[in-house]
Amino acid sequence: MATPRIIPRPDHPISRKDIDHDTLKVMYKLKDAGFEAYLVGGAVRDLLMGKKPKDFDVATNARPRDLRRLFRNSREVGRRFRLIHVFFGPKNVEVATLRSAIEPPDGSDDLYIDDDNQWGDLESDAFRRDFTVNSLFYDIRDFAVIDYTGGVEDIRDRLVRAIGDPRTRFAEDPVRMLRAIKFAARFGFDFETQTAVGLAASLEGIHKASRFRVTEEIFRTIIQANRENGLRLLWQAGMLHQLYPDWVKEIGEDGFAQILEYFRNVDQAAEQGWFYPLEILATGLFVPLLDTVDVGRDNFNQVAARVTAEVRELGLKMELPKRLINSVVELLRAQLYLLFFAHLSKRVRRFAASPWFDQAWRVHELAFGQVAELEPVRQTWIAARESLGSQIGGLADSPDRRDIFSFRGRTGGGRLPNGRNGAADEVEDDAEFVEPELVDDGEA
Ligand code: ATP
Ligand code: MG
Repeated sequence: MATPRIIPRPDHPISRKDIDHDTLKVMYKLKDAGFEAYLVGGAVRDLLMGKKPKDFDVATNARPRDLRRLFRNSREVGRRFRLIHVFFGPKNVEVATLRSAIEPPDGSDDLYIDDDNQWGDLESDAFRRDFTVNSLFYDIRDFAVIDYTGGVEDIRDRLVRAIGDPRTRFAEDPVRMLRAIKFAARFGFDFETQTAVGLAASLEGIHKASRFRVTEEIFRTIIQANRENGLRLLWQAGMLHQLYPDWVKEIGEDGFAQILEYFRNVDQAAEQGWFYPLEILATGLFVPLLDTVDVGRDNFNQVAARVTAEVRELGLKMELPKRLINSVVELLRAQLYLLFFAHLSKRVRRFAASPWFDQAWRVHELAFGQVAELEPVRQTWIAARESLGSQIGGLADSPDRRDIFSFRGRTGGGRLPNGRNGAADEVEDDAEFVEPELVDDGEA
């Protein structure tokens, strides 16, 4: 039995007023029914750092059947594990029973292990978690923080440290490597030495992970704060070379530097409270493919066909959802459109008024906004767009929370996040970018 470090309420900054109201209700109800109830994982970590948590997860010694009985407004959900969602209107609080160290095999994302020995106590639940900073508990009985793994110190020292032997933990679940990088990037933390060594030695194991979870984690890295840093860490670790060798070869070091700049611009917008939809973020990974374009020499249709073919091929190899690949193709073709046709006033007027313009414009700003030679081209387009009077969309005031897999089918998936989307709001889910009349309209 390990003895945890207990940090009593006066010695830590977590206050009940910073905890979501419904989550508190769930914890109190559990406590009143005689169960243990803890706030766990990311929420405790974020609150200790003085950040606002994305979501609040609860752990308890009550079993799923107790939970279903206790909370009428609940549902059992299983992805890799059995969890209970307690509903409060459209929102839900996730409650999990304390677990033992038993892991479901990877690749079993849609199944959950249904074996009674999966349950455990606080200690086993702390040690089966991935990183020390993610294994803290906040006890609703006395408001103390319970730390079995040294997470409180590691938060103070700004370290991502695997719990237990890093190689073993990365071998058990290779997605943890991506999670380590994601957290290091988001918080600006370093890897604890052995964790860094273990990560470097375990890279190839990533091929054993479910591609589903891999794609999800990669996209989380570019949706969260410090995207540029996240991509750089993924590159430096050699992870992108493992996962996307063809893409790495195609874009090269220079292309990657361009991509970092794109995401630096995304980061800066986010710091101002502006966020881009997933389509625009995904497009950032492919902008270097436009590098060799020479407007004076090339033919629009030929270049567009080449870019389309390249993105399709790479995107499929990277196992990106097809609808997302289509959006990237559309947004990249639109970049070519902006470059090739700025001198054709009829086309400029028509495209500036089309529902695809705003997102395309945002990609242009992120990728080429600092290219001085393009200033005249930009002036032309922005004048045409501004003459319409409406606000330029393609941005929202909250992050895009759509699941990357909502892009899998031709249908499904949500709209752009609510907010100041302007014209982009009118884009149909399934709408594809169609260049307005590519046939010669007598202007050229
Ligand atoms: P975020 O702010 O990104 O949601 P989080 O720490 O809450 O960060 P989640 O993915 O929501 O991360 O997972 C919740 C918790 O579950 C983690 O804090 C961690 O304790 C545990 N966990 C998640 N994934 C793993 C994993 N692959 N292996 C071990 N523990 C994990
Ligand atoms: Mg979480």
